[in-house]
Amino acid sequence: MDAVISLLDSRWPYRPWRYGFGEAQIGDPVAIVLDTDPPSVMTELATIGADGRPDLALMRWPHTTPGLIDLATLAIVCNFSEDPRNTWVLRGGAAAQMESALTECGYRLDESMRLGRSEIAAARILLHSVGECLGCRDAFDFTTEDARDAVYIHMVDTPQRQTALPVVRTERYASYLYDSTPESWLLPEIPADIPGVLCRRCEQSMREEGFTSLLDFRFARHPKCPRCRANRTRKAMYGEPSGPIREPWLDPRGCVQRGEHVWTCGACGLEWW
Ligand SMILES: [Zn+2]
Ligand SMILES: [Zn+2]
Repeated sequence: MDAVISLLDSRWPYRPWRYGFGEAQIGDPVAIVLDTDPPSVMTELATIGADGRPDLALMRWPHTTPGLIDLATLAIVCNFSEDPRNTWVLRGGAAAQMESALTECGYRLDESMRLGRSEIAAARILLHSVGECLGCRDAFDFTTEDARDAVYIHMVDTPQRQTALPVVRTERYASYLYDSTPESWLLPEIPADIPGVLCRRCEQSMREEGFTSLLDFRFARHPKCPRCRANRTRKAMYGEPSGPIREPWLDPRGCVQRGEHVWTCGACGLEWW
């Protein structure tokens, strides 16, 4: 947790990094290994800056959140000539192999990686927050030593795998012959809950209001649908987002605002002001 906070904010007083190589040159790539259980490695490499200090290596924050990959699995799959779990420095082919493996993993991350209740999942959720509370959008103040207590990480169970459809279908007609397209195909798919990070104030409100789902808590900040009374109202959002919108309570409408409806019900599709 300290390590993730120090990645999110360089003003955090702790530099909880260990490194085991002597001379480092400007521009040398550094793989960031976190002491999670099991140990994990960031998919984004950092580079040694002008000060030559590995504990202050610079990371280019990617367009999407940097990911975390289980280091043991990576070591087994890649079969490095030197095991990155034991050695501090990878050279030549092993270094290039590590770099391409991490880049590849970085492209393949998806939201399911933040589900579950492991230490790696918690670290991924915190990284994904980019240091902001999902409830009130306030930035966390990581300049003080007790900042880690200000962060509440809400974790969500991985949903059970769905039972597969039977391979042999017994109906005599293809389903498209009698099933019309359901109206609901236009509605967004909204999960029951999402993982995320809250400040203590928002976490307290969530508890006091009796919510166990962070998503229900967040949707409760919006008015209920006047037609179906569902609590799944999404707010219109204009502008060019810097990345994909992952908040299900927002409804990205592009750049041009034309006095359209502000609220859209995620359950029945009603739009209103
Ligand atoms: Zn908050
Ligand atoms: Zn509705």
